[in-house]
Amino acid sequence: RRKKMVERVTELMDKPERIRNIGIVAHIDHGKTTLSDNLLAGAGMISEDLAGKQLFMDSDEEEQARGITIDASNVSMVHTYGGQEFLINMIDTPGHVDFGGDVTRAMRAVDGAVVVVDAVEGTMPQTETVLRQALKEGVRPVLFINKVDRLVNELKVDQQEMQIRLGKVIDKVNKLIKGMNEKMYNDGWKLDAAMGTVAFGSALYNWAVSVPFMQKSGVSFKDVFEKCNAGDMKWLAKNSPLSDVLLDMVVKHLPNPTDAQKRRIPIIWHGDKETAEGKTMMNCDPNGPAALMVTDISFDPHAGEVATGRLFSGTLKRGTELYVMGTAKRANRLSQVGIFMGAERIEVEALPAGNIAAVTGLKDAIVGSTVSTMMDITPFEALKHYSEPVMTVAVEAKNMKDLPKLVEVLRQVGKEDPTVQVSINEETGEHLIAGMGELHLEIITGRIKRDKGVEIITSPPIVVYRETPTQKAGPVEGKSPNRHNRFYIELEPMDPAVIDLILKGEVSMNQQVIERRDILVTAGMDKDEAKNIKAIEGTNMFIDMTKGIQYLNETMELVLDGWREALRGGPLADEQVQNLKIKLLDVKLHEDAIHRGPAQVIPAVRSAVKAGILYAGDSLLEPVQKIQITVPTEQMGPATSQIQGRRGQVFDMLSEGDTMTVIGKAPVAELFGFAGDVRSATEGRAMWSTEFAGFEVVPGGIVDEVVKGIRKRKGLKEQIPRPEDYLA
Ligand code: GDP
Repeated sequence: RRKKMVERVTELMDKPERIRNIGIVAHIDHGKTTLSDNLLAGAGMISEDLAGKQLFMDSDEEEQARGITIDASNVSMVHTYGGQEFLINMIDTPGHVDFGGDVTRAMRAVDGAVVVVDAVEGTMPQTETVLRQALKEGVRPVLFINKVDRLVNELKVDQQEMQIRLGKVIDKVNKLIKGMNEKMYNDGWKLDAAMGTVAFGSALYNWAVSVPFMQKSGVSFKDVFEKCNAGDMKWLAKNSPLSDVLLDMVVKHLPNPTDAQKRRIPIIWHGDKETAEGKTMMNCDPNGPAALMVTDISFDPHAGEVATGRLFSGTLKRGTELYVMGTAKRANRLSQVGIFMGAERIEVEALPAGNIAAVTGLKDAIVGSTVSTMMDITPFEALKHYSEPVMTVAVEAKNMKDLPKLVEVLRQVGKEDPTVQVSINEETGEHLIAGMGELHLEIITGRIKRDKGVEIITSPPIVVYRETPTQKAGPVEGKSPNRHNRFYIELEPMDPAVIDLILKGEVSMNQQVIERRDILVTAGMDKDEAKNIKAIEGTNMFIDMTKGIQYLNETMELVLDGWREALRGGPLADEQVQNLKIKLLDVKLHEDAIHRGPAQVIPAVRSAVKAGILYAGDSLLEPVQKIQITVPTEQMGPATSQIQGRRGQVFDMLSEGDTMTVIGKAPVAELFGFAGDVRSATEGRAMWSTEFAGFEVVPGGIVDEVVKGIRKRKGLKEQIPRPEDYLA
């Protein structure tokens, strides 16, 4: 039987029109895991016994213990529709808000998304976030309204009310789609129950219906209501099986890779469409240069490092030599090429474009890498994470002899999870792990201890801050230690419109100069500046306004290195710098290359930038989270004070029936222990979620204290440096 399945899967992978690459996305607890497991079971890819016990996709022990899904894992299934077989590759995505970054990378690999919404709760903040991520990547959504049984059994609604509520959920999701991308909405991405882009059902009880299915089968909303009401889920599961209805919807309404890539490549790849690689990708052509985007890296005890990603063009085979863009130009030879069958990885002879590939041998790749048979192609747009690391823990090995192992493990962690930042504090020698929140860091440190077997001591989590200029400054002169090289720079805060374009991925260094210039000029940037951008790092920009300076070209990389070093730690608190625009106005270079090497240029630029940031009114920013708490109306007071008592601000209160939703924001620094406090303040009756909402200025009343605290913790001098200290 297994052999037969291998044959079917490998046959289908050569026929892009028979492939669907999809992801399931949802707010936490809306039923994504239950749905994934039951789809696999329904398609005969795992035993029915295992399904529904959440043992499958949540393979990580941690995930099982906490009941949440953390890693995007990959599975595939074969589904028959209209007498033909289809290969459905499904990438699981985490449902917890702390892991937003993972949803982004899963969306890069797929072409369609099943958005799951709890019929009782309706759309939640995370529903909005994942939907936005899907649309950003050009991924087409369909909707599954789950837990319909709860409407009938818990809310005791009648049939009419049930249908009205389902309609309201659809309207709400459509409103979100329209608000996020009106063009896509008008181009047919509006959800429409009559068309069959919406299904309703119960993942837990294994049934679903859609309008086309009801027309075909004769099962009606009346049946749904009556069977739910009578608790006869068996009838529904038998007469409207979940996997049939859902996978029919997927095959019929979500695009195959060939169709999808025509629309998606222009969104996720900004190279020249007329090049060999451009054409091959646009056509999802298996002949021609290979282009793979790595979206996941995991460590398999047998195979070693397995890179998973979407193959947008070409064909991969064992022995294929590939190059990882942005690294040393050395060939990485593939030792295994595989695809997924169920949750198993099986080796194949040759894997063509349009599939999700799992390969070994890509030594130089990390999550987010663009990999190609060509040595130098324009990389795919970088994966945009909607959350940023907001908390850090310091870790050290319990036993000194484990230190080399810890260093290696931290390197792996950084590779596996692109939302984690691993670094070393030069002053103290501590290893730092920055993540998206308390829970995220707990899970990572837990894994280091358990899976990787390294005993570590972990500090309590601390907040990650940022520094940013508030006004113009300059010109500032930076001198090299030998005084023979001089750099003159001007600094200013970046225009918010430009920051927005960078964050949206519409402006990047992967673009062609002309395209980037035009977008920036339209956004109001000076034309001369817009065409002379040398580098973009986070939301910082370096512009070269000089003309015809001898040797500058060959020295530019060192100049940028100096600039990057300054960005890594600002003068105030040695925290990352953001939203800084720098213009290089003039340069004097020694004519002998020996006297303008790294040891001269890097410190000269670095100190000019640091001094300049101080002149430009350096200010400290702290991460802020949006908070949404839903409680029974009588608990509104305690819920509100949970936000207000934390230097927070409530900006909306919505009431529906006897529940109240309080929406507000508060700084991360004040949110330690929030979960426990909300629970006890509301007698455990609150449903809440938090979401990254950017960085904001630390209020004047406390900023001195905060800066002092950070400097002390980092072992820096108590006194904040003056500009002259850098320019001496
Ligand atoms: P995830 O966080 O989105 O992966 O959600 P899970 O699949 O873990 O489901 C969250 C909870 O909802 C679990 O306790 C499930 O048993 C329950 N659940 C999932 N689907 C249904 C459903 O259709 N009806 C009911 N009543 N409960 C469900």
